[in-house]
Amino acid sequence: MKDIFCSVVSADEIAELTAKFVQIPSLSGEEDKMAASCQAAMQKAGFEEVGIDEAGNVIGFIKGSGEGRSILYHAHMDHVPPGEMKNPFSGNIIDSSIYGSYGKAVYGRGAADNKGSLAAMIMAIASMKRAGRVPPGDLYVTGVVMEELTGSPGSRHLMTKQLQTDLVVIGEPTNLNIALGHRSSVHFDVIIRGVSAHASNPGKGCNALYPLGLILKELAVLNSGLPADDIFGSSTLAACNVSVSPGQRSVVPDLCSLSINFRGVPQFRVEEMEKLLNGILQKALDCYPGIKGEVKLASERTNTYTGLEVDLTGSMIGFYTDPQINEIKKAFDLGKNVCRLDIELDKWNFATDGGVFDSYGVLTFGLGAGEERFTHSALEHINIEDLHKASNFYACLPWYI
Ligand SMILES: [Zn+2]
Repeated sequence: MKDIFCSVVSADEIAELTAKFVQIPSLSGEEDKMAASCQAAMQKAGFEEVGIDEAGNVIGFIKGSGEGRSILYHAHMDHVPPGEMKNPFSGNIIDSSIYGSYGKAVYGRGAADNKGSLAAMIMAIASMKRAGRVPPGDLYVTGVVMEELTGSPGSRHLMTKQLQTDLVVIGEPTNLNIALGHRSSVHFDVIIRGVSAHASNPGKGCNALYPLGLILKELAVLNSGLPADDIFGSSTLAACNVSVSPGQRSVVPDLCSLSINFRGVPQFRVEEMEKLLNGILQKALDCYPGIKGEVKLASERTNTYTGLEVDLTGSMIGFYTDPQINEIKKAFDLGKNVCRLDIELDKWNFATDGGVFDSYGVLTFGLGAGEERFTHSALEHINIEDLHKASNFYACLPWYI
């Protein structure tokens, strides 16, 4: 019989910390106050070391007895803009049946994505400390920055620090199922360069907009035939934005930029997609002598709230963890037979930072409270009882894996 530890914190304590986090606005690049609150919560919970790295990620550490696997619990501190949401930073406790859900919930932007999980992870450590239990392996809880931007700059920075761990648990909403992965999300820019002229005399120029007609038509055809697999379904692409320069009513544009979002099944490589896009571009350009173009990964640089310059490379890495791996079987068994969760093996439709850890060869899966359908929506909330269950799972996992 395994020695199973069960959480001794209450649902109300986790809800209270979630609400406190929700009440601190923390858009990507503006997570400073949230990081300070996260750091204080970890210190209060009894973490042995709590630090903030150069990128602004908060890293809490618990030393294990050295007999078991090391686990990194991962959640992000930033959130998407509130948009049309009413009282987005209230952190109010609501009856979620008004949103077609069930039970008491914490309402607000970031509640499900991803502050509730961060609170549940911190309180899982508080629970161990209160019970005087030393986990068999080292544990980390990380609140990372800038997950909501593309390119996972916060988590990439974390891994450049050679943080040693055997397993990463991503706390993005899974409705208490085990998520084994997701498709990649990659942003491409198709750049078309022509020659500007007065619109009264278009023959003097080469209109950079014109090849776009052929390109869009071909993209729609390509989208219906992209590689698929049994787990994630089809790869997809979507033309999302067009900009032209100079963008004046009476000027033939000399520059056109088309942004494309590509979601690929894990075995469909980004390089192959880039090659297909290049083929479409070249075919269109062949019809317009004098116009040139290129396909490239969207890229921009920005700064974290600490001032560190980071690269937003335009991609979130897809991954898939084999459910036959022993640790996944054990985690599933813990969820089903010990924590009594209504648990299934699942996947995310959206992308997460999980692919960063997978790309470093670290075993990665997701489990978090919250429903995917409420993330980034004006109805964002998270069920308190489910947060308690997730926290209990996090608290038990070190002894079970
Ligand atoms: Zn998220």
